[in-house]
Amino acid sequence: MTQDIADEPLLLTPGPCSLSRTVKEAMLHDYASGEEVMVEKIRHCRSTLLDLVNGHGSHTAVPIVGSGTYANEAAIGTLVPRDGKLLVHTNGVYGDRIVDIARHLRIPYASFRTAPFTPPTAEQFEEALAADPAITHVMVVHCETSTGILNPVAEIAAVCRRRGVGLLIDAVASFGIMELDAKALSYDAVVLSANKGIQAPPGIAWVIAKRTVLEESQGNSPSLSLDLWDQYQHIERTNHFRFTPATHLILAFSQALKEHAEEGGIAGRQARYRASWRRLVDGMRQMGFRTLLDDAVASPIVATFHEPQDENYSFARLYAGMKARGFIIFPGRLAAANTFRIACIGVVTPDDIARAMEALAETMAEMGVRSFGREPVPA
Ligand SMILES: *Cc1c(COP(=O)(O)O)cnc(C)c1O
Repeated sequence: MTQDIADEPLLLTPGPCSLSRTVKEAMLHDYASGEEVMVEKIRHCRSTLLDLVNGHGSHTAVPIVGSGTYANEAAIGTLVPRDGKLLVHTNGVYGDRIVDIARHLRIPYASFRTAPFTPPTAEQFEEALAADPAITHVMVVHCETSTGILNPVAEIAAVCRRRGVGLLIDAVASFGIMELDAKALSYDAVVLSANKGIQAPPGIAWVIAKRTVLEESQGNSPSLSLDLWDQYQHIERTNHFRFTPATHLILAFSQALKEHAEEGGIAGRQARYRASWRRLVDGMRQMGFRTLLDDAVASPIVATFHEPQDENYSFARLYAGMKARGFIIFPGRLAAANTFRIACIGVVTPDDIARAMEALAETMAEMGVRSFGREPVPA
């Protein structure tokens, strides 16, 4: 499962990610939208997504053309009714983006924040819901990609069930890597996109929604193209999209789901990512780097490292040195913390990570960086 085009750098970024040759080759066909093969591929995708969450019967998978943000916006705009109110937790860029979506959609919302390295607790949700009985829905990010922190969705889901409020989960980063059982968690919706743990090309995303909730959502969406109810009705009736379907992307997504299953499904994929992540974090710590997160709250998807406190260090030079050696890394997203990120998603293997660690050591030596450590940021 290594990269197939030798002179293209391997993406160690949290999406888009490097894809297998066979996923890319699946797109070498031009099909019209109503053709039987497209109907079959759409069915395969919808059904396999439900397999992955144990969602048959209770839930349904609806495609949205666009990146994960489009599907988050479709889910919020369609599933939170006009007289509803959304509670959003944020500890990073993607949680902040959900707040931004609620604001743009003019949906009443409340939000609360925890530090970028601190997951929220079930008690915090209990308190926020008790304080504001107008809240009808909660939305949380499962893996917050701006740091890699994993938020405790099972505990939050238990609070939502007890209080009878709907739960929406942004699982764009974690889907296909971490379990999200639809029956056990009983969420209203989980949002995912193609270009993260499923290892498909970007441009298509999905909402896995509770059928009873979706069926009651007619007329909620303020948007035509992002009306999940309408797309659901249409796809159930006709087996294809309302508007031009992303034909090539569906072909690739279907192939990517097959390869996900061949790797051993969620458990298999998580095992490889976890092995890569372990090699990454151990290797970086051996060099003297410090992670932003404690391992106990970190996901095996992306790791965030403090930049070296050394006057010879610059991210631009690190990036260029890594790129010249065949690897693309990512800057940090936390204005305050001076970090950079390395991800383990895509066709990346632990051996690729080992080579990346050598490339990083070489680049640091070339820059003349000697001191890698950094004081912990105060809580
Ligand atoms: C990637 C990602 C998204 C979607 O971002 P896009 O820029 O629209 O692809 C949303 N939430 C999380 C947690 C993500 O990792």
